[in-house]
Order: sequence, then C-alpha cells, then structure tokens
Amino acid sequence: MPKAFRNLIGGQEKDAVSGRTFENRNPADWNEIVGIFPKSEKRDVDAAVDAAKQAYKEWHLFPAPKRGDIVKKAGDILVARKGELAKQMTREMGKVLLETRGDVQEGIDTAYYSASEGRRMFGVTAPSELPDKFTMSMRVPVGVAGVISPWNFPMAIPTWKIFPALVSGDTIVFKPASDTPATAATLVEILVEAGVPAGVVNIVHGTGSEVGMAIVQNDDIELVSFTGSTAVGKKISEIAAGTLKRVSLELGGKNAEIVMDDANLELALDGVLWGAFGTTGQRCTATSRLIVHEKVYDKFLDMLAERTSRLKLGNGLDESIEVGPLVNEAQREKVHSYTEIGKREGARLVLGGESARGGNLDGGWFYKPTIFADVAPEMTIAREEIFGPVLSVMKAKSIDHAIELLNGTIYGLSSAVYTKNLNHAFKAMRDIKAGITYINAPTIGAETHMPFGGVKQTGNGHREGGASAFEFFTEIKTVYVDYSDRLQRAQIDTYKN
Ligand code: NAD
Repeated sequence: MPKAFRNLIGGQEKDAVSGRTFENRNPADWNEIVGIFPKSEKRDVDAAVDAAKQAYKEWHLFPAPKRGDIVKKAGDILVARKGELAKQMTREMGKVLLETRGDVQEGIDTAYYSASEGRRMFGVTAPSELPDKFTMSMRVPVGVAGVISPWNFPMAIPTWKIFPALVSGDTIVFKPASDTPATAATLVEILVEAGVPAGVVNIVHGTGSEVGMAIVQNDDIELVSFTGSTAVGKKISEIAAGTLKRVSLELGGKNAEIVMDDANLELALDGVLWGAFGTTGQRCTATSRLIVHEKVYDKFLDMLAERTSRLKLGNGLDESIEVGPLVNEAQREKVHSYTEIGKREGARLVLGGESARGGNLDGGWFYKPTIFADVAPEMTIAREEIFGPVLSVMKAKSIDHAIELLNGTIYGLSSAVYTKNLNHAFKAMRDIKAGITYINAPTIGAETHMPFGGVKQTGNGHREGGASAFEFFTEIKTVYVDYSDRLQRAQIDTYKN
C-alpha cells in the first residue's frame, strides 16, 4: 500500500476538505506509486492562511537569532537524513542520486546561511540633518508568505524560500509541485521536528490551478514567492496586481554556453554535457543552446556527439546512471514535439530525437539526449524553453556575434563562456544580458550565498540566495527619534532661506 500523506494546517494533519486525493508515480518506473496526497482547494488554503495569520502574532516577536537557531537545527536534520532524502527525491522525480544529494546539500547550505542571517539583517543608521535627532532603518517581517515551487529542485527551491522567510519572521503557506509532494512533506516534517511552532509553516497539496491560484488570490497573503514557468508567472503577476501584493518570480530560461576558438575544448565539453543533460535538461539554468566559434565548430560538434552517445540512461537509483527519465509523460510529449519542430524548421538532427526504449527503460519516461546542429537564431528550438535533454548548436564568427546570438531570446537567466582570452571574458561579463554569467564553468552551479535570478522574462527583478532573499521577505521600516523636546521641521528649519 503506498503511503497516504496529508496537509499540515495549524499543526494538525488534515485531509482535503473534499476528501479527494491524487497519486504521485516514479518517472523511472511508472508502476510504482510513491504516495497518495490530498487534492486540496480554496477551502483548504483559506484554513491554512488563517492558521498562518494566527501564528504570525507570536512568531514575528520571537527574536530573529532564535528563529535562525530553529532553521539551523533543520539543517542539522537534513545532514543526518541526506542519503535517505536523496533516494526519496530520485524515486519521486527521476534525477540521479548524485544530483539529488546535491539538491539536499543546497537545502543544508541555505539553512546554515539563513540561520546566520538572523544575527545580521542589517539596517542602516545615518546622521539626521537636525540636532538631537536620530535616524535609522530596520528590517521587519511582512506577514503571511505564499510559497509555490516547481518539481525540478524539490528540496533546494522550497528551502531558498522557506528558510529566509522563517528567519525574517514571516509565516508560510506552502504549495509544492504535484510531481514532488513527498520531498516537500518531508521538509515540513523536518521543520516541525526542528521546533517550528504550529501554524508557522503550513503545507497544502494540490494543483496549481486550484491551490496555487487560491494562494495568489487570498487577500491575507502579503507575499508570493513563485518559481516556475514564465506563462504561470505572468498569470500570478496579473492577479497580484489587484491587491499590489509583493511577488517574486523566478521563471524560465534559454541558457547558452559560448565556446571560443581559444577555449580549452575538453573543459568546455565537460561543461556542456553537465549543463545540457544533467537533470535530463530539466533545470531552469540548463544549457539549452551551444554557440561555438566557427574555427572549432566541426571538431567540437564531433567531440560532443561522441561523448553524448555514451551517456548512460536509466533509473537514477543506480549509481552508474548518468541521465534519468523526464518527470512525466506530458513532459516527454512536449520534448518530442520540439524535436519534430526542429526537424521541420530545417535544423540538422545529429543525435537522439526519440524516446529511449528497451529493457528497464520501457517502464519510464526516458528520452534520448538530443543534439541539433546548424540551428538558426529564428528557429523555435533556438528561442523557446524545451526543458528536456535537447541541445541546439549554433555557429558564431566572433565573440561579439556569439554574445548577440546568446542575447537573442526573451529569457535572461544563466550563461557561460569558455575562453582563455581575458578581453573576451570581460566583454562577456559586461555585454551578456543574464542574471548569471559563468566564465570557464557550465551554466549550472549556483552557490546558495550568492544572488540567484534572471533578467528579461526570467523574472521580475527579485533575487533569491544569500542576503538578497531577505530583501524580499522583509519590509524596510524607517525610524526617526527626536530627543530635542521641540518641534523640528526637516528641510524647513535647517535651510531657512
Ligand atoms: P509550472 O509553472 O507549471 O509550475 C510551478 C508551480 O506553480 C507548481 O507548483 C504548479 O502547481 C504551480 N502552478 C501552476 N499553475 C498555477 C497557477 N495558475 N497559479 C498558481 N500556481 C500555479 O512550472 P514547472 O513545470 O513546475 O517547472 C518548470 C518551470 O520552472 C520551467 O519553466 C523552469 O525554467 C522554471 N524554473 C525556474 C527556476 C528559476 O529559478 N528561475 C528554477 C526552477 C524552475
């Protein structure tokens, strides 16, 4: 019998009010049911928001360093359970164990960083223009935060949001992706074990259109932290505009790696293999385009095709596997539809382009690592996010041309340049329009203490990671203390004429 999970609302485990449920299956072996989850709706969300509002009254008064201590304890539990959690995540969404261990580690790093921020969250003090007057700004909690997360980093992304929100003094209603609810439920269980009081973190399982929308529409939710697709991000933004609630959007990407003719080609090759086919291409920072200098184009393409053809596909629980399945059947159909579009629009299919079948692969949503060469910038596969193991290769004449190609999409998340030429590297750092640029490293590999996010239609200007996350989860309050015992008028009494 698969395990039946429940919502956690105000410290109580609850089924959906309607009694409905949904099941979550292993994408590497679709006969295996990972768990049964409540299929919640607006009524469940409203109850969770009420609980979070109630809990906020005490939680925001609890000292920030102590809130940090609880988050630090959650980090310690993640350390102790890292191996077991990685296995649960691989069963749930398919990426290989090496990567799910990394995903848990990202949660651990975020816990320890966020805990330490409880002793900083600096404001500023500044001199007043008037005598006997003191000025300062400080960070204060905002209220109830709605957290809506995707399935590709089931532990890391929720922790990027929940840990800084908790240390900031906010309370939470959390809706995880319905492809990865078990990892999310375990994270909440760990927070409870670490000492988070009842109602401070509430989890409501269900679909985006029912539970996600109900969070965004609830007037008592003051913040929404969302990571997911650009299409859904736009919808959320429109609805949130009605109440002007603050929304942080981390959205899609169409990231590229540039390989210049002076690059260390072996290094660039390792980078693109990891960037394009790690997590089966299902990362917001995945290398989806490869832009190669014309002088090394043919040689590099041969090297790439040879190494890619040797990647080992299978169930990520087997440590020898390099590429797991896609997360679900709809995703496999979507990826394949892009293969068909690529062929139709005249790109040259070098490798893959079909589902991977045979033996153990028949039971899962596997797709062969796919390479398209001679891709033109106007082709759909050069512009749209595919979110699968499909790499579009383009040819560039110079660093300027390569950067122009790289910038030619509506997205601006991550980017990478392989070169030994200092001038090229600095030009890239300046001219690439992206939130993140790597020099001689792949498009994936963010560290949790650094700002993370993108420009253009990848987001709306907020950043996760490090201290910048706290800018979103807190409000700035400015305080003036006048101890002169008389009315002092700024601008007027200081400058009389
Ligand atoms: P998605 O937009 O379909 O779903 C994301 C979350 O939003 C899920 O929990 C989903 O249930 C919920 N949701 C769906 N419709 C909703 C609605 N109408 N209202 C409220 N919530 C709704 O995205 P996904 O398929 O889970 O994830 C893949 C996408 O996420 C890709 O586009 C990827 O680039 C992006 N992503 C971005 C980042 C980043 O930091 N920029 C990181 C990871 C993933």
